[in-house]
Amino acid sequence: MTHVHDAVIIGAGFGGMGAAIQLRRLGYDDLLVLEREDDLGGTWHVNRYPGLAVDIPSATYSYSFEPNPHWSRLFAPGPELKAYATHVADKYDLRRHMRFNAVVSGARWDEDASCWEVALEDGSVERGRFLLTATGFLSQPKKPDIPGIDDFAGKVVHTTRWDDDVELEGKRIGIIGTGATAVQLVPKLGKVAGHLTVYQRTPIYVSAKVDGNVPAPVRAAFAKVPLTQRATRLVGTSILEVMMVAGVLHYRNMPWANAIGRAACERHLKRQVKDPELRRKLTPDYDFGCKRPSFSNSYYPTFTKPHVDLETTPIDHVDEGGIVTTDGRRADLDVLVLATGFNLWDANFPAIEIIGREGRDLGKWWRDNRFCAYEGITVPKFPNFISLNSPYSYSGLSYFTTIETQMAHMERLFGALQERGAGVFEVSEEANDAFLERMTELLGNSVFNAGSCATARSYYFNQHGEAVLLRPTSTISAHREAARFPLDDYAYA
Ligand code: NAP
Repeated sequence: MTHVHDAVIIGAGFGGMGAAIQLRRLGYDDLLVLEREDDLGGTWHVNRYPGLAVDIPSATYSYSFEPNPHWSRLFAPGPELKAYATHVADKYDLRRHMRFNAVVSGARWDEDASCWEVALEDGSVERGRFLLTATGFLSQPKKPDIPGIDDFAGKVVHTTRWDDDVELEGKRIGIIGTGATAVQLVPKLGKVAGHLTVYQRTPIYVSAKVDGNVPAPVRAAFAKVPLTQRATRLVGTSILEVMMVAGVLHYRNMPWANAIGRAACERHLKRQVKDPELRRKLTPDYDFGCKRPSFSNSYYPTFTKPHVDLETTPIDHVDEGGIVTTDGRRADLDVLVLATGFNLWDANFPAIEIIGREGRDLGKWWRDNRFCAYEGITVPKFPNFISLNSPYSYSGLSYFTTIETQMAHMERLFGALQERGAGVFEVSEEANDAFLERMTELLGNSVFNAGSCATARSYYFNQHGEAVLLRPTSTISAHREAARFPLDDYAYA
């Protein structure tokens, strides 16, 4: 029998590190963090395409207990996020728990030993009393199933596997996808390409970005008087909260709030693009908030350049020389960039096979029934399992809000377990069902249900047509519930 760790955490991004910090605070020190990549940082280690930056204000994108006064810009570039992750790992002494290039294939609850057995692709097995999955929401890249894509003779690069050696200068570049990643990348490609063709299936809402360097005296003030940064964070968080709660979650009662967001994007487009036909193509026909909007001052203007084409005719196939659209036109390409996002609902919930009590397979159970995790974190029949990237777990717009809400839930749950001298927790089916019913009802007021999202093709929606990624409550309410949920929603043994 192999050693049983206190906990096995899968994923060394910000979610996994937050969970490790919390477990250490709760007195568990024998932690094993398994990470499939060769370093920590999750999204911010994997993604390094040109233009990568956080797309909400940096002051809100950090652990509240570990503010970073050094962000160089209002929206910090990707490498600074990676540096912050490294700083957190070092400061909280997390590296000693981490094992990199450790690809987990599955986990199974061992009823007799009351622990989780975690299988790795190299054939080894690890065991932990607790299992925490922190595999991210956007970590399983989606390669589009376009016929002939493997025949392309030039270079194909997915944004999550950016090849720093790919030659772009003066090349004929095609990019598929116009999501938040493309909004950052397209302007960069537009600057260097000989010709750029952007293949758009569904336009995205883009508003003006109020960005800029954070002046050195402000950074110094943040470092010297942390309260000043906390105040800035509070302002940023409040703006994001109002946008989310009023504009998206309470759409039915406050459609005007949603309309403000939409109008801001439409005004931005009108200011930046004078050609009415181009503007029409770039205008979404679904409600604001159905899918993640973005901020950019350079995205729309890129399409007005003579060497950039916006292609909205559907792609028929790819051949060795380029892309052929359904009207028979072809674009010869040297480089094909796939900004095609992630597969959430088939490949990410969960990202690995997880088998609980009575052989319940989490992915199958979710797909055959309805996707739900109690308070976005635990699932019946999965004892001692914390699923950090679950349906209804994402709360607010900064991922750190979600992370810290989940840390609060863990504190209460593990505290209850320890107080009872128990070793196993499991959420009840009843509590899970009641939570699902409540979330379903709340979703009825959101833009996802009450608005017009049919044409958005949003990854917020699962294969059952339900938008169950985001928790339809305010972050304040999510945090309050995490700190006060009824303890008897769980069984302890
Ligand atoms: P995404 O929003 O899912 O966008 C993928 C794009 O690829 C969509 O435009 C999609 O079109 C298109 N696409 C996919 N398959 C296609 C196919 N077979 N044919 C044609 N087009 C296809 O992915 P993303 O842009 O990578 O962004 C994902 C999320 O990552 C964002 O919403 C955001 O939350 C996050 N993100 C964050 C940051 C940041 O904070 N710095 C930066 C980038 C991204 P359809 O819409 O028609 O399906």
